[in-house]
Amino acid sequence: MALTLFARRPEPAEAPAPEPWPEIGETWKPEGVTVAQRYYNQAHAVVLVYTTDDGPYGTCYSVACLGCHYATRENGQRTYSTRYGLADAAKVANEHATTCRALPRDIPACPDDDTVRERLHAWVRGARHRDKDVQLWVSNLDLIRLTLQRSNDWIVGVLQQLVVDEPEIVRIERSQYSDYVSYYARRLPEN
Ligand SMILES: [Zn+2]
Repeated sequence: MALTLFARRPEPAEAPAPEPWPEIGETWKPEGVTVAQRYYNQAHAVVLVYTTDDGPYGTCYSVACLGCHYATRENGQRTYSTRYGLADAAKVANEHATTCRALPRDIPACPDDDTVRERLHAWVRGARHRDKDVQLWVSNLDLIRLTLQRSNDWIVGVLQQLVVDEPEIVRIERSQYSDYVSYYARRLPEN
């Protein structure tokens, strides 16, 4: 009798494969982000944990709900803002998934190149400051990368082109010590 009971115990579950996207039956992989984890919310919308870092292992992670528009990339409750590592992002995503009841939205469509370029130009213009040049970090775009759907290289390419086309708006700065390159939105002209 005891043996029968033991035999009926469930086998240890195997690690689940990535959940397919319900509507299209495949796992959505937007360009420019690496999805590390997925959670289902209460209404079966997916909550993503993703990184935009290059390479197989990211260091900074963001969280986005594909039901409601919840998106976060750092702990804003600390006095200094801190980007999430994987463990923190996973915790935040899981907590959101347990409470969110929003139905799944459509997958963000992939915009055409002109549209993305225009959004990036607007980002650069919006970053300009009255008092100083402002460094442009591609990671500042992390929360909209699911809608931009472009690689880091592609985004940097747009900045490079903008340096050529509109040098009065953006400038490039090359490190003396390495091949590191940074971009700055030039300070606004005085009126
Ligand atoms: Zn949500």
